[in-house]
Amino acid sequence: MIVGVPREVKADEYRVSLTPNGAEELSRAGHRVLVQTHAGDGSGISDEQYAAAGAEIVPATADVWGRANLIIKVKEPLPDEWPLMRPGQTLFTYFHFAADEKLTRAVMASGVTAVAYETIRDAKGGLPLLTPMSEVAGRMSIQEGAKFLERPFEGRGILLAGVPGVAPATVVVLGGGVVGANAARVAAGLGANVFLLDVNLDRLRYLDDVMPRNVTTLFSNRHNLLEVLPWADLVIGAVLIPGAKAPHLVRREDLKRMPPRAVVIDVAIDQGGCFETSRPTTHAKPTYMVDDIVHYCVTNMPGAVGRTSTYALTNATFPFALQLANKGADRAAHDNLGLAAGVSVRAGKVTNAAVAETFGYPL
Ligand code: NAD
Repeated sequence: MIVGVPREVKADEYRVSLTPNGAEELSRAGHRVLVQTHAGDGSGISDEQYAAAGAEIVPATADVWGRANLIIKVKEPLPDEWPLMRPGQTLFTYFHFAADEKLTRAVMASGVTAVAYETIRDAKGGLPLLTPMSEVAGRMSIQEGAKFLERPFEGRGILLAGVPGVAPATVVVLGGGVVGANAARVAAGLGANVFLLDVNLDRLRYLDDVMPRNVTTLFSNRHNLLEVLPWADLVIGAVLIPGAKAPHLVRREDLKRMPPRAVVIDVAIDQGGCFETSRPTTHAKPTYMVDDIVHYCVTNMPGAVGRTSTYALTNATFPFALQLANKGADRAAHDNLGLAAGVSVRAGKVTNAAVAETFGYPL
């Protein structure tokens, strides 16, 4: 199989879909790996490192797409890339089809087999190629929160850890899933007082068991939320209701209860956000103020820590990439039901039930 790794073209995207170690393993398995020149720059991986791992460095995007049977990417193909997709080719990347009908139609028309990272399942029914990015965003949310609490960044000038004789900050985390648990752990590690809210009692029992003593679990309801907001220097939005928009747990009028210049980091912004006042922002201008509260709502947080994210993502994607290269998409999907759940478009038709339902296409 010829495996192609194009350079990502989306703004602020610093990840790459394959590491030199992955290139080496694919080459060892008898595949030819084409890496577009500078594809790894954003993650601090040079062309020389890929070449030393057995990859061929290819200057032109069109060449990578034109020669490879299996293309591995990070982000969905953008309109400039649509004409490069070819019938019979397999494209393995994040697509998020349900959010973009034009993309879905372009992929259907191209004849590629689209294997979407976001719908691949593990044996427990989890989404193993989403988890690493939630881990990154959860941990990063505290790092960003700490930064924007600094006064030069418009925050209230609070050090999360406090110092001897001065109390640490209070961090409220809404949602105790992958993002929330990772955020709570990092905040607690820095010494903050953490309140972690969720509606799932089993999950709260588990979190209560494994979290450090400075994390207090709370059942998520309006009463408890309003009780903790006046103490909150930093609030992390990490709620997910699968297949639905995030609920606006914090209303505009609630912001008045928070200390002035407190910070909210709404990680759930990609599903609409948990704050009524959230709207998507970018790494170029990550924050804005509403009613004296700093809002950070970057939709692709992991992009900023490209190197960590590349390694975290490829740890999870590579085993599937190798199966696709070794067996081709059809046989790989036949042999692995989890991988089959990722096949979203094949032979011009949508094969993922949720995407088909979204656009009213027949399955
Ligand atoms: P998850 O499914 O692991 O966790 C969501 C948690 O929310 C669950 O534990 C659930 O019980 C809880 N929840 C549901 N309703 C609630 C409520 N009313 N109050 C409190 N908790 C409630 O999901 P995750 O992987 O942690 O992802 C969280 C969000 O972060 C998702 O929207 C995801 O897309 C997003 N995300 C964003 C970025 C980014 O760059 N902005 C990166 C990664 C993930």
